[in-house]
Amino acid sequence: MIRILAEIESRFEMKPMQAVGSGFTIAKRTGGRIKHPRNAAAWYSPHFNAMGWNKVGLSTEPWMSAEASARTATSRQAAHGSRVSRLPDGPAKEIAGRVEYKWTVVEAGPDYPRSVAIHESGHRLDFNDRAAFDEAVRGWNSGWQYAVSEYGSKNRNEFVAESFVLYMLGEEHHWRIKPELLALFKRKDRFNASR
Ligand SMILES: [Zn+2]
Repeated sequence: MIRILAEIESRFEMKPMQAVGSGFTIAKRTGGRIKHPRNAAAWYSPHFNAMGWNKVGLSTEPWMSAEASARTATSRQAAHGSRVSRLPDGPAKEIAGRVEYKWTVVEAGPDYPRSVAIHESGHRLDFNDRAAFDEAVRGWNSGWQYAVSEYGSKNRNEFVAESFVLYMLGEEHHWRIKPELLALFKRKDRFNASR
């Protein structure tokens, strides 16, 4: 967790964070000024520029039983297929149609919970340069949201955070990112620029 945060810090220029750690500890230390959202595995507060986790956000244990998660995956993929079929023809439809559509880009496995830290850092990156991201995400919900994840389709902010997970997972996942947003991530990434 700390390693991925340090990597992101060194690759992307961002305002230093005020606090990072256990959500409950931060809530207590700030005298309740930062509230810990009960159902969130992790959170980022743009106002305080702080990041916190709860136990779920740090655990490698799957949230759901194997059977429940298989059932959910099947119905989600079916709903995804019918939504994508109604999209206008174009690159977003073509790409979304090839995606295994999950609740979040990473739900379990070796990239979890590292992906949670990446997701929250995606919010941080976004809130550090709002105007540039507004520009890059324009039209995000015209089909590109279905190339990312169900959570990433909820709103503009989650779209950026989930797309950043795809970006940090590696180049083999970059085809799923809205091109203008991918270009912005690359422009901000020192690692990419120096190659
Ligand atoms: Zn989020």
